[in-house]
Amino acid sequence: MAGSIQGVIDLRMEERIEFDEITQLSAVAMGEPGKRTFFLIIRQKGKWVRAWLEKELLEALAMATDQFLASIAQERRYFTPETTAEVAPEDVLAGLPSVELEIDQIALGYDQEKATLNFSVHGSGSQKVGWSELYCRVTLAQLKKLGVQARKICAAGRPRCLLCGLPIDPEGHICPKSN
Ligand SMILES: [Zn+2]
Repeated sequence: MAGSIQGVIDLRMEERIEFDEITQLSAVAMGEPGKRTFFLIIRQKGKWVRAWLEKELLEALAMATDQFLASIAQERRYFTPETTAEVAPEDVLAGLPSVELEIDQIALGYDQEKATLNFSVHGSGSQKVGWSELYCRVTLAQLKKLGVQARKICAAGRPRCLLCGLPIDPEGHICPKSN
């Protein structure tokens, strides 16, 4: 491994980072319809991570969250409190994140009354981070809020054409079915 030449950096120490006391977990969309980008805010005390992800992955996360919470409710008779999908002003943080990442994969699990989110990640853009995994333990209420937000964001995309099912851009729509 190239990084071992000087033997200074212990890559094993940096590959995986754990956040155990998440104070905020939010899903956010930015930009115009059709050109939106999506990220999660993962905050632990003074430090926050912006983790970019594809819309498909955000949709999958929303669905997986629903199924996960339903199965927990069935097995353990635990019901997460009702939550709103509104992104509160304090959800959108001012300033730059401590770290920017891109999410490749998400695994959802359960550990001692908390949900676990295991993100496979890499540094965003030119940013080099040692982590390839970000492991978070979150309350079921935090997970539920994230799922509701994610579903709402994904549903708020461009309207769909009734003829062809493709999204309609604000500039208009050239429908392949109307030719
Ligand atoms: Zn159409």
